[in-house]
Amino acid sequence: MRFFVVRTMVYICRMQKTLSERDQAVIWHPYTQMQTAPAPVGIVRGEGAVLEDEQGRQYIDATSSWWVNIHGHAHPHITQRLAEQAAVLHHSIFAGYTHEPAVTLAERLLPVLPGCQARVFYSDNGSTAVEVALKMTIQYWQNKGLPRRKLLAFHNAYHGDTFGAMSVSGRSVFTRAFDDYLFEVTFLDLPNPENLPALLAQVGALGEATAAFIFEPLVQGAGGMVMYDAPSLDALLAHCRAKGILLIADEIMTGFGRTGTNFAMDQLATPPDMVTLSKGLTGGTMAMGITTCTAEIYEAFLSTDKLKTLFHGHSFTANPLTCAVALASLELFLEPSCAENRRRIAEQHRQFAEVLATQDDVRNVRQAGTILAFEIHTGEADSYINDLAGFLHAFFREKRVMLRPLGNTLYILPPYCITNEQLGLVYNSILEMLAAYGKRQV
Ligand SMILES: *Cc1c(COP(=O)(O)O)cnc(C)c1O
Repeated sequence: MRFFVVRTMVYICRMQKTLSERDQAVIWHPYTQMQTAPAPVGIVRGEGAVLEDEQGRQYIDATSSWWVNIHGHAHPHITQRLAEQAAVLHHSIFAGYTHEPAVTLAERLLPVLPGCQARVFYSDNGSTAVEVALKMTIQYWQNKGLPRRKLLAFHNAYHGDTFGAMSVSGRSVFTRAFDDYLFEVTFLDLPNPENLPALLAQVGALGEATAAFIFEPLVQGAGGMVMYDAPSLDALLAHCRAKGILLIADEIMTGFGRTGTNFAMDQLATPPDMVTLSKGLTGGTMAMGITTCTAEIYEAFLSTDKLKTLFHGHSFTANPLTCAVALASLELFLEPSCAENRRRIAEQHRQFAEVLATQDDVRNVRQAGTILAFEIHTGEADSYINDLAGFLHAFFREKRVMLRPLGNTLYILPPYCITNEQLGLVYNSILEMLAAYGKRQV
């Protein structure tokens, strides 16, 4: 009886507290200083480009829920495929066994990827997809009996938060506590027509010792939506390829239409040897990572010698529910209406970019397909940027627009179903923010 009363009281207490309050007693959020962070917004449902909180307030999801959503929230086609798959098979071991959703997804995905991708290796998220790519390249050279060990990456890169992925990412405040534990990587500057000859010489000097080069093609996402010169990148990649260096295109953010083409590598002539995918892969519905490679890489692991096996896997490798959702998302992605939507968004962005360029405090307006980014001029030291982040969060939360700056970089990266009217509201909120910011400075 007493147990029952206590349980009931706990239940009533829970009923009275908001989601946001209950969260603060039990949750540790990502990238969040829990002591100073404002209470999180409790989200209860989503539809299209809109998310709704527990008070019934609606927010336009202008950054695709951390760059993952592409067709909108709770898309009926994806929901239906998930339900159909859930009625048949939730999960099965993927070593020694296989299933329809994993095979069909690989069959449909490989032909649309850049280069000659021949094999799909499934894992759980973007970071694991990168870990797998790194392990494949390192072991590829060992299996071939060639002593290539060095890895190349760009300064300011972001490839994930696990140790291998952190190692090939730029060193920053985000990695500082772990820097001593990260393996050595050679970092290159982003290429441009001026520094290209020096970069080619640098790669030439590293030559035969280098196993692989991992890069975010055309746009460095987490590094601040940094967009860089496609012809220079292409020349650098061609040079690496000529030196036998394996090319790992990390399309985790740029993949599935963000930069205008289906994949950012589609804008380059040099094909990648490997591609990593996640984020938009499932339309932002469930977590999944994919690493693909060419037949040549795959074949270096075929042997009667067990030591040449790729010893890597995860419990939920190729989860059938996730594969079914990725397949449903891919079908929507390949419909002509999806490409039309991306062109429409790009055109709206182009027009707004012209307006932005005339604003005080706006610097370096840039666009790649459906991604629009710019810097807010702060004119002061780093501490002010932290202050700026707080101001921006509060401002956009109030305006019911989900925008989350990277330092003093503000960007829009919407789901492709966002309407012109919703985009207009996002643009207006930015202009209002700039007006308020201008007043606040003086
Ligand atoms: C987000 C991201 C990752 C890491 O993916 P997670 O699923 O967050 O682990 C890796 N590379 C790039 C380019 C990314 O944008």
